[in-house]
Amino acid sequence: MLIVMRMGATDEQVRGVLARLKEFDLDGHLSPGKERVVIGAVGVIGDPDIRHQMGRMSGVEEVIAISRPYKLTGREFQKEETIIDVGGVRIGGGTMVVMAGPCSIESEEHMVTTAKAVAASGAQILRGGAFKPRTSPYAFRGLGEEGLQHLATAREETGLPVITEVMEARDVDLVARYADILQIGTRNMQNFMLLDEVGLARKPVMLKRGLSATIDEWLLAAEYIMAKGNRDVILCERGIRTFETATRNTLDLSAIPVVKRLSHLPIVSDPAHGTGHWYLVEPMARASMAVGADGLMVEVHPNPDHALSDGPQSLTLENFDSLMKSLERVGEAVGHPLAAQPQMAAVGD
Ligand code: PEP
Ligand code: MN
Repeated sequence: MLIVMRMGATDEQVRGVLARLKEFDLDGHLSPGKERVVIGAVGVIGDPDIRHQMGRMSGVEEVIAISRPYKLTGREFQKEETIIDVGGVRIGGGTMVVMAGPCSIESEEHMVTTAKAVAASGAQILRGGAFKPRTSPYAFRGLGEEGLQHLATAREETGLPVITEVMEARDVDLVARYADILQIGTRNMQNFMLLDEVGLARKPVMLKRGLSATIDEWLLAAEYIMAKGNRDVILCERGIRTFETATRNTLDLSAIPVVKRLSHLPIVSDPAHGTGHWYLVEPMARASMAVGADGLMVEVHPNPDHALSDGPQSLTLENFDSLMKSLERVGEAVGHPLAAQPQMAAVGD
């Protein structure tokens, strides 16, 4: 249910609506639009008369029932696109950010070398996994907190914000101490306890689409995070499971404009996990930019043949550099340029 306040409604009237919602055990989420305040009421609306009662309150223009299952993530609740500022990098709002780095953090030297190279090529955000969800329990599962420390060193050396995955509700505080953005991996898209926990964290969250999740299920997972009060949610299309085996997954490019129509949240494309092959990363990255992605996530490794995870889909430092040059040209052609690097980025050495 959305409660649209009159133009010029007073703070007191807004507070009155929020207090009344509380009496019905509903949470009121404010969307202070350009012209008028909209209040999203979430919770179980048991009594259908609530809508009429809210409609009679002072300062209320109208009450709208939302038919979609997700509320706060939808365009009805917020018309303007969400723009998230992460350490001076703006995600959303018509430009594209590039998050780049190794699949797994392997050592300090490995992380810092990769970080300096991708920063020099123009990346705006560093990625690197310390807690790795692996299909086989015998595969490399990451360096844990030591890896997070290397990521923090790479941030200091480059001035770029960092994103890394958190796999467990009990690790959220630890990972949030190091990360600028918390990543929820595809296998955890419906780990509802984890979603609740990152919803309480004071860091932006990037939610990857589940391996077999529909767009509705994905937006409902984002709703869990927003319902706990965290508005800074980024979605990430990373390929879904289909019958096709020539690629690791099928990167669902159409999901990008579909999500943009349904939701105000920024959406990032991950052509590395989406295809599984390094030579498909550039064409699918270019296509993602053309269909309006707000960001890209790319895996980069100084020596992909020796990577401890996801080598076959990782770009070399040189290939990443040429990808960035080609994205500049696509950005100009489609009117969707790359975002600026943060001002303090140290890209010269
Ligand atoms: C990753 O980005 O490192 C990762 C494990 O991705 P996904 O959850 O999409 O498989
Ligand atoms: Mn990976």
